[in-house]
Amino acid sequence: MSTCLFCKIAAGEIPCKGIYEDEDFLAFHDIHPKAPVHALVIPKQHVDSLVEANDPVMLGQLMDRVRHVAGLLNVAAAGYRVVINVRDGGGQEIYHLHAHILGGKRLPF
Ligand code: AMP
Repeated sequence: MSTCLFCKIAAGEIPCKGIYEDEDFLAFHDIHPKAPVHALVIPKQHVDSLVEANDPVMLGQLMDRVRHVAGLLNVAAAGYRVVINVRDGGGQEIYHLHAHILGGKRLPF
């Protein structure tokens, strides 16, 4: 059994505040929001980080889901930020690939 937190969320073993789900992706609200809107979009299949994400189709689909979820969250018109922290140097804490969607206010650089 996986010990990965986001795998457990994807499997429904740990609850989340879900926003969107399909066969391969899941989006949910970040538990410690750093902006008025802060969501995470993950592939259900485990990939440690962007370094290991060598499937261009999956990466394209991830960005498509980010775009879709931003629309669901009503941040598309005003604009938002997409962040992928990569490994330790990039501040990645959870080693399961995920994209942050941050919005709901004008973000500082
Ligand atoms: P990162 O630093 O890019 O790995 O981001 C991990 C993010 O996951 C952080 O913003 C955390 O607040 C968030 N997080 C950690 N645990 C949970 C959880 N159980 N549900 C939702 N978000 C979480």
